Amino acid sequence: MHRRFEDRVAVVTGAGSGIGAATARRLSAEGASVVVVDLAGDAARHVAAALPGPALAVQADVSREEDTEAYLASAVDRFGRVDLHHLNAGVIGTFDRLPDIAIEDFDRVVAVNLRGVFLGVRGAFRRYAAQGSGGAIVITASIASLRGSHDLLPYESSKHGVLGVMRGAAMYGGPQGVRVNAVAPGLVPTGLFAGSGGVSGAGDDLARRGATVPQRRTGTPEEVAAAVTYLLSDDASYVNGEVLSVDGGSAWVNTVRPGG
Ligand code: ADP
Repeated sequence: MHRRFEDRVAVVTGAGSGIGAATARRLSAEGASVVVVDLAGDAARHVAAALPGPALAVQADVSREEDTEAYLASAVDRFGRVDLHHLNAGVIGTFDRLPDIAIEDFDRVVAVNLRGVFLGVRGAFRRYAAQGSGGAIVITASIASLRGSHDLLPYESSKHGVLGVMRGAAMYGGPQGVRVNAVAPGLVPTGLFAGSGGVSGAGDDLARRGATVPQRRTGTPEEVAAAVTYLLSDDASYVNGEVLSVDGGSAWVNTVRPGG
């Protein structure tokens, strides 16, 4: 395997499972020192312990400013710098019809998914400025950043919002050698759907919905991690402010057929 991240320090949030864990593994396999950040400290430690290269696990709630500052400070304490940041921590919230959405649920989803991404992006930019170096940032957006559905409004609001953070940061970062991009996964079975912050019974539904994807299957965390690491790497040196869908073609399914 290529070692695109030799001598780079990478920080991945929500890396205790799913897409974040897969990205941490890929970065590590390609030579990076990796800081594994997750609200679930045990999960973070478990992932970090299994990485082939230098690794550090940090327990943090990305919606809290002091936690964000602390995980970046830990990265610098241990590895001396930060070069790459994958902002991936997220929650899906509850599947409710619009009139039933509780304000607490809306606020919590937006706090983790949108404010957490803003805090991480701002923290990384401050770090790059202090180091006098550029860097790369990738945000985990979603197919829900691009489309609507009938029962996931807080999640969709937050995931549309992260594209605003991404584009604003990409414009600000361009002149400073900082690239900011996003991946938009489609149906990828992870804890988000099946367990931790997710919904019981959603697993079956996910398998059924996988059959509606143009590629006729759900995706894997490793397939998303391949796109994330492409965008973090110098292979993407002229890609900035982009959203890369990793969804088997789902974003382009035409649900309103001409004449139908
Ligand atoms: P996906 O891989 O699709 O992003 P997962 O649920 O597998 O879905 O991963 C999301 C990760 O984000 C989980 O490991 C979860 O513990 C973590 N996470 C959720 N909320 C927070 C938070 N506030 N701060 C840090 N990590 C969080």
